[in-house]
Amino acid sequence: MISRRGFLGASAVAVVGFDLFGHRWVTAAEAAAGPSFAKAPPLSGELAVDAAAREAVGTDLGNIVHRRPAAVLRPGSAADIAAMIRFCSAHGIPVSARGQAHTTYGQGLSTGLVIEMRHLNRIHRINDRFAEVDAGILWKDLAGAAYEQSPPLTPPVLTGYTGLSVGGTLSVGGVGGIVGGLRTGLQVDHVQELEVVTGAGVIERCSRQRKPDLFDAVLGGLGQCAVITKAVIQLVPAPQRARNFVLQYSDNAAFFRDLRLLIDRTQVDHVYAEFTAPDPEPVYKIHATAFYDAPATPDAAAILAGVSAVAVVEDTPYLDYVLTIDRLIDFLRETEDWDRLVKPWYDVWLSDSTIEQYLAELVPSLTPRDIGPYGAGLIYPQRRELTTRPAPRRPAPDGSSFVYVVDVNTVSSAPGPDPAFSAEMLERNKRLYARARRSYGAVLYPIGSVPFTEQDWRDHYGSAWPAFRAAKRRYDPAGVLTSGPGIFRRS
Ligand SMILES: Cc1cc2nc3c(=O)[nH]c(=O)nc-3n(C[C@H](O)[C@H](O)[C@H](O)COP(=O)(O)OP(=O)(O)OC[C@H]3O[C@@H](n4cnc5c(N)ncnc54)[C@H](O)[C@@H]3O)c2cc1C
Repeated sequence: MISRRGFLGASAVAVVGFDLFGHRWVTAAEAAAGPSFAKAPPLSGELAVDAAAREAVGTDLGNIVHRRPAAVLRPGSAADIAAMIRFCSAHGIPVSARGQAHTTYGQGLSTGLVIEMRHLNRIHRINDRFAEVDAGILWKDLAGAAYEQSPPLTPPVLTGYTGLSVGGTLSVGGVGGIVGGLRTGLQVDHVQELEVVTGAGVIERCSRQRKPDLFDAVLGGLGQCAVITKAVIQLVPAPQRARNFVLQYSDNAAFFRDLRLLIDRTQVDHVYAEFTAPDPEPVYKIHATAFYDAPATPDAAAILAGVSAVAVVEDTPYLDYVLTIDRLIDFLRETEDWDRLVKPWYDVWLSDSTIEQYLAELVPSLTPRDIGPYGAGLIYPQRRELTTRPAPRRPAPDGSSFVYVVDVNTVSSAPGPDPAFSAEMLERNKRLYARARRSYGAVLYPIGSVPFTEQDWRDHYGSAWPAFRAAKRRYDPAGVLTSGPGIFRRS
């Protein structure tokens, strides 16, 4: 481990270098031995080259792709990130930021340098309108701190699982899995400003007004142009409680009729749905939630008017509701070795005009193995007009008010790696995606495990490709950032 203290002190392990020919990081002793070693810059944080540190970041939640980096940066500041990106850029060393590594197909892995963003996790400012936070902070920690304000506040959009990093979800989009979607955009729609380090190693601030091309390229930008180091995130008043109505169906048409009723009801604040593989019948479940402050209570009769299923009602304090999925994942982590299970996830956007027909085709084709004992089929409705950013990519407008993320979040029954299972499910994902794109206009939500060629990426970006490619060339001219998704060939 090399720290600023080590660098400045008289210790034998004074600085780490990079072997320009062998393309590996070396200790100071080795660096002293030859002229082909470049000296790494001084840091306030640490650069680790030991096997344990590198192995610990060699895979992600998917356990499908394994790529051990040559070094791990535990940054003490954005300046450390800038210095190391400049160094890597000069020597053609690939770099990836790592949030919580909850993407599942190597998106954040690297053979060069991995930057562990979790070391930058402070809240710098919080007031009644926004919070300025480090990108490595978890959404649950921001939600908790916002709720402690007087009156209590919340980010307008929260993902289903909130143990994800702010930088990680802002790099993919951030769909409101537990809060948001019906009356908000995605998490990227509620960011006022970012501090980033570009692929050229320059620290920049950007917003809708300031360097908007950089702002556009970074939000939902899959880490291609810059590393997010800070974000200014909108906060809104938080409710006291959440009343959740759970409705169950085995019939696709009845499920969609009620889903469409509920997402349009002014009394309903959030909706998501689950589906299972037929066994022998599929099960569809709607979770519709109304937020409220006592003494007022949600009008259950108005919420449920005309729906065909009987609702099971749950009522919880707001923060308990926000952490519903976190409790489930924590339990699986304790009991089933969750982090080591194989997760070949399939995630696509569909528009309102195609989703019902698509699910009518998809769900009967699934077997229980396609989801697995700890997996889930999920549907997240999102009001289209409230999404304001160029990324993430979404289906073309079709005159309807909603778009949906559909997930087949497959989880293996035993800890991996399991190359045969991974290969089978990656092949399935390729097949599902090709069919959904061709016949239903689906668009990838790139958090999961769908193999993509460079041509697939170009098709994915469509008319936005030239602007995205231009931003990549401008802000990451050496092409060192985030090679995991395989969007750009190294220049
Ligand atoms: C249980 C579970 C529930 C989920 N629920 C939802 C949901 O409701 N809605 C939703 O939208 N998604 C959901 N996701 C997906 C999740 O949003 C993405 O996988 C997200 O990228 C995870 O954040 P992370 O911190 O783990 O990012 P990582 O996986 O670490 O990073 C994702 C990508 O962004 C890059 N990156 C990370 N940090 C930065 C940074 N600071 N600057 C630039 N690039 C960076 C990485 O290199 C990588 O390419 C869920 C995932 C899980 C496992």
